[in-house]
Amino acid sequence: MAECQRGLQKLFGTQEPIVTLTSSGTGGMEAVIRSCLQPSDKVLAVNAGKFGERFLQLTDAFGLKVDELKLPWGKSVSVSALKKALKPEHTCLLIQHSETSTGTLHPLSEIAAWLKKEQPKTLLFVDAITSIGALPFQMDEWGVDATVTGSQKALMLPPGLSFVALSPRARKRAKTPSLPGFYFDLNREFESQVKGQTGFTPSVSLIVALKESLRLLEEEGLSHVFERHQKLAAATRHAVVAMGLELASELPSVACTAIKAPEGVKIKEILKTIEETHGFRIAGAQGEWEGKAFRISHLGYYSPFDLLSALTALGGELGRAKVKVDLMKALKVFIDELEL
Ligand SMILES: *Cc1c(COP(=O)(O)O)cnc(C)c1O
Repeated sequence: MAECQRGLQKLFGTQEPIVTLTSSGTGGMEAVIRSCLQPSDKVLAVNAGKFGERFLQLTDAFGLKVDELKLPWGKSVSVSALKKALKPEHTCLLIQHSETSTGTLHPLSEIAAWLKKEQPKTLLFVDAITSIGALPFQMDEWGVDATVTGSQKALMLPPGLSFVALSPRARKRAKTPSLPGFYFDLNREFESQVKGQTGFTPSVSLIVALKESLRLLEEEGLSHVFERHQKLAAATRHAVVAMGLELASELPSVACTAIKAPEGVKIKEILKTIEETHGFRIAGAQGEWEGKAFRISHLGYYSPFDLLSALTALGGELGRAKVKVDLMKALKVFIDELEL
């Protein structure tokens, strides 16, 4: 764990220690809420998709006072929308950096800079689960108070670990938690982990694997990793549009490309066929977008050829389902753009 610290701190853009929890990403989100908020807090939560909803469910579960800034799915939150929603009594803002359910980026560095200027006492807690490791994240510079990520996204590991960093003022709050809970106690974990221990049995095998994935990222070079994500995401978007499909997000994140399901097709059945006959798992969408959109991932361990094959399978199956698509044009755009 000690050997993983430096690599994790680089990804988070922080000098603060990173704690590793044995849980999926949601456990890290719960740990932050439980350890750093108090019943007297009033929270503003951005809800622009499934994971925005999750922060709301969590704060509700702890009985906190929460106002919701709800946006239609596929929208990215703007500073002006936040300006209208944020009130002096809000002590904390909860937001995703990349809302994976809609494949949308929220302009976090801009939001953080505005918050620091407008209402510096308000804490900023960020679910960076599909942004850390995929695009630059500067926790200290931006003034983020709590950052969470998980093992199974850009860190390229199996699920089972979450990672949390806190600013000094959030860390101070975590020293005297007042919300109920036991397992997710960040103060206990910070105190143990700086001594090379953990509060409870850690997932040793995943931590060993983490060391290797951090080594891979280091070897490739973070700037190259970020550039690769940008390029694969852009080429995928352009190919999908060239194919004749429509993007579903107004500000696509580099994590995944969300695409509107063509009219009149049962997209879930097509995705199932793609998985069964070609071996590519293209994700459907959840909640409001179920059956109406789908998502192609390019987060983490991907080569251009993975996506080229996935696009071929997608175009082929849509064509067989009598959707008018131009697969050759899509492949040409993809190949030309990435100079394959
Ligand atoms: C994956 C993900 C999570 C965490 O989900 P778990 O299933 O608990 O790992 C939270 N937020 C976002 C934005 C995610 O993409």
